[in-house]
Amino acid sequence: MRSITKLDLQYAHRFYGFKGEAQYLHGHTGILTIEVEDSVNEGVNMVFPCGEIQKTAWEVLKNFDHSLILREDDPLLPAILKVYEETGLKNGTPQNQMKGEAFKTELATAYPDSRLVVTKETMTVEGMIKIVYSLLKDKLNIVKLTFTSGVNVASAEFETKNNIDRCPLCGIAMNENGICSKCGYKH
Ligand SMILES: [Zn+2]
Ligand SMILES: [Zn+2]
Repeated sequence: MRSITKLDLQYAHRFYGFKGEAQYLHGHTGILTIEVEDSVNEGVNMVFPCGEIQKTAWEVLKNFDHSLILREDDPLLPAILKVYEETGLKNGTPQNQMKGEAFKTELATAYPDSRLVVTKETMTVEGMIKIVYSLLKDKLNIVKLTFTSGVNVASAEFETKNNIDRCPLCGIAMNENGICSKCGYKH
């Protein structure tokens, strides 16, 4: 069976070099739907608690929220960095609290201090699905991702098998020592 959850991300981006309105800087509320598949955990009668899927995903994905997402070869990138540097935003401010853990993958690099994500490919809804899958596939048994941004929607299905050991009392993943970090249950 599947557990399905949604989260939304507010971001600005543009399609550099694209012949259409999207070549101008603009913003969206993007909605990501994550579908996780496994057997039903008999102890809690759930596949996986949706709040925990959200929490796991948000740890990395908050880097995309209230951020600017630009392709690595976009000339806006050095221009924005220059302004952020000159106005004291580049290395963070005390108000920039909602920072995720910085990451660097083949497809994207997050700079939480600047609330900036630099991508290898244009950040279309399809591009976002590739990035999200690469960031979360080792943490969750993802079978489907859907990303919606305005009229654009993309979805993709995956075969992910992580054999996640789940707590029979609260449903979350057991830690590496076989102990539930939430309720303390031990096998
Ligand atoms: Zn857009
Ligand atoms: Zn537990």
